[in-house]
Amino acid sequence: MKVKPEGRATLARTALSGALGAAAVAGLARSAVAQQDMSEAEITATHVAGNVYMLQGPGGNMGVSVGADGALLVDDQFAPLADKIRAILADLLGGEVDLDFVLNTHWHPDHVGGNSEFGPEAPIIAHTNVRKRMSTRQEASFGAVDPSPSEALPVITFGDSVSIHFNGEEVRAIHFPHSHTDGDAVIFFTSSNVVHMGDVYFAGLFPFVDLTSGGSVRGVIETVARVLEQVPADARVIPGHGPLATVDGLREYLRMLEESVVFVSEGIAAGKSLEDLQAEGLPERWADWSWSFISGERWIENVYRSLQGS
Ligand SMILES: [Zn+2]
Repeated sequence: MKVKPEGRATLARTALSGALGAAAVAGLARSAVAQQDMSEAEITATHVAGNVYMLQGPGGNMGVSVGADGALLVDDQFAPLADKIRAILADLLGGEVDLDFVLNTHWHPDHVGGNSEFGPEAPIIAHTNVRKRMSTRQEASFGAVDPSPSEALPVITFGDSVSIHFNGEEVRAIHFPHSHTDGDAVIFFTSSNVVHMGDVYFAGLFPFVDLTSGGSVRGVIETVARVLEQVPADARVIPGHGPLATVDGLREYLRMLEESVVFVSEGIAAGKSLEDLQAEGLPERWADWSWSFISGERWIENVYRSLQGS
């Protein structure tokens, strides 16, 4: 399907808010995400570069490639938002929804909740561990999550990487082990010069690293460093949460992660307890990274437990 220029032109290119809504926090924190009231939730679209748009709503940030081949969606938020997502896809495609592929960055419900709606429409692609975790009940630190229905499960799974040749470019999903979870994929839109980091990257926000799903703070550092080696300096970066970002923003995030690990590991070596470290706090320059879901204290605990476990 051809994208009509006016389809793109009429799209509201909403300015991004720097912070997440309270719904996002509740979305991740509650297991019964499907029961949340999503009737008031909005999905906004922002042109990123080339074929790629970022869609934002109460869950994790989505990416979408639109063009002559149709649409490829990266993550899909929550099932009750599917019609709102379809309406945006139709707008971007100039009238009609033509969804060809869905990629999942990881298994968390605020990123794959729409799979049950989109699975019957397009093949879902994800790392092997995404399908594994979605197939069984998960006792996550943010609550228990029941197994997903079969139509929500990825039907194409990969180990190290997979490429989809779509809308005139190679869309490459690369797995990085033990980062935010044990099933993360970073998605490179190689010609559009855009990378979707999933929840390996929380832009300007202390991240949540899911240790109960095989995540590791040191692993996140390793992944971010490797992505920085691969992307051009002028690439645009879609984070899992937070506003659209740049390579410089991702580099600053890496500094925050590294300083946090140094702060906690030196504290542990000096015999300090978690409570000591939380009372001391990270350097003041990172104070703005605290937010409703991950405060500075909670982030220090996440780092502490990750280092203790490794
Ligand atoms: Zn996540």
